Amino acid sequence: MDFDLTKDQHDIKQAARDFAEGEFPSIAEECDHQEKYPRDLVKKATKIGLIGINFPEQYGGSGYGYLEKCLITEELWRVDPGLGSVVISATFGADMVQLYGTEEQKKKYLIPLTRGEAVMGSAITEPDAGSDVSAISTEAKKEGSEWIINGNKIFITNGSVASYFNVICLTNPDNPSRHRKHSVIIVESDREGFGATKIYHKLGIRASDTAELYFKDVRVPDENLVGEEGKGFYQFMEFFNRTRIHVGAEGVGIAQGAMEKTITHAKTKIQRGKPLASFQAIQFKIAEMATRIKAARNLVYEAAFKADKGKLDYKLTAMAKWFAGETGVRVAGEAMQIHGGYGYTGDYHIERFYRDAKIIEIYEGTKEIEKIIISRALLS
Ligand SMILES: Cc1cc2nc3c(=O)[nH]c(=O)nc-3n(C[C@H](O)[C@H](O)[C@H](O)COP(=O)(O)OP(=O)(O)OC[C@H]3O[C@@H](n4cnc5c(N)ncnc54)[C@H](O)[C@@H]3O)c2cc1C
Repeated sequence: MDFDLTKDQHDIKQAARDFAEGEFPSIAEECDHQEKYPRDLVKKATKIGLIGINFPEQYGGSGYGYLEKCLITEELWRVDPGLGSVVISATFGADMVQLYGTEEQKKKYLIPLTRGEAVMGSAITEPDAGSDVSAISTEAKKEGSEWIINGNKIFITNGSVASYFNVICLTNPDNPSRHRKHSVIIVESDREGFGATKIYHKLGIRASDTAELYFKDVRVPDENLVGEEGKGFYQFMEFFNRTRIHVGAEGVGIAQGAMEKTITHAKTKIQRGKPLASFQAIQFKIAEMATRIKAARNLVYEAAFKADKGKLDYKLTAMAKWFAGETGVRVAGEAMQIHGGYGYTGDYHIERFYRDAKIIEIYEGTKEIEKIIISRALLS
């Protein structure tokens, strides 16, 4: 087994680090406090190829894989999770188009993302359908060559800024299987009857846009159907088996950033005439942080590596997402503890990491759902 990154991978990681360290610090606090989505940042990221790195070259990408996208994700979240989310989520939904889209759909929806002309979203969650995706009731009825969509979605990333969304809709309500009733349809945000209301006062990742979506007799052409009618549930499960690898990388990045801030603080903060870092209780906490991060990173990289080799392992992906999410939350919590009152009041930005970390245990499958996936795979 070779655990070393290639030169290309090192260069990609370094480019992401340079971008984050150069662009994020001056706007991070403002975007968090004012819940401001920095559209320009996405455009800047496209210019150096950070967006769509894993798209094939004919669709504007660089032809790299899940591992390279993980390296970027980790570096961006290490510096600021909210802004990291803005950049990484700009293509949230592209994997669905790559996996199931027609040639026309790939050209139409992937290329604008890599040029910074569009941002994408994926609309699954509804007020009465979160973890249970099969309960989705947003309805799409076929009329001639069009779909007419009615319903609403909640907590949608990029909801009020995206140009288009993968929307999972109930298209075959009479199918006896609860997993064969849905289809994925792309809805452009400029269609009549589409509306979005931004959600404010989130706990964390406040630079990232989150909105509620409304569909009132929204008409889209049949050509916007992605994949097969009635297979939307399965398509989204396959989609999440891939995108969750990157959510794992978010956990690794946030934990790494929180630990680095903590090491700096522990070496400089004087208590009883000595730096905090001289106390064994603090040393042990830092040793535990580093060990958990290493274990989480190895899980995430292995999941990405396998996906890139065409040997996607959904159990491993679920392990990586759950463990890296928990690592992000734990490490940010210990980082806050070691920063004491200075962490709590925000002077060292550690409180932002503490707030931002929790989302990783909630979106794209809660930690409980990940454990269900893992245990089912082991026990079935
Ligand atoms: C900032 C943010 C961004 C988001 N972005 C998107 C997005 O872009 N697109 C999108 O579609 N959604 C998005 N979501 C929604 C997110 O994916 C859901 O919130 C999540 O899937 C959980 O669904 P829920 O909130 O309805 O909670 P529920 O499903 O009601 O779960 C509540 C609790 O019950 C537990 N639970 C549920 N079912 C079980 C079970 N069978 N066994 C054990 N425990 C269970 C859960 O683990 C959780 O702890 C976002 C959410 C947030 C907060």
